[in-house]
Amino acid sequence: MNKLLIFVLVMLAIYWIRRSLSAPASKGGERAATGKAKRRGEPEKMLACAHCGVHVPESEGVHGEHDFFCCAEHRRQHRSQH
Ligand SMILES: [Zn+2]
Repeated sequence: MNKLLIFVLVMLAIYWIRRSLSAPASKGGERAATGKAKRRGEPEKMLACAHCGVHVPESEGVHGEHDFFCCAEHRRQHRSQH
């Protein structure tokens, strides 16, 4: 039982260390403010808005029930059409 507790603590420690290492080193955290910030260097997936067809990064758009939209307003407009 004790071994299990130590294992869990070690896993938590690794998780904390990894999280602190992946956090942006610069002050301010301009991308972290969005709450959806991706790791630096990771290519952003571009998706087309189902309403207007504009391509936006996945983290900056919104997901509908089945589609992807560039903004919440377009998701609302698209939903009201169907
Ligand atoms: Zn749109």
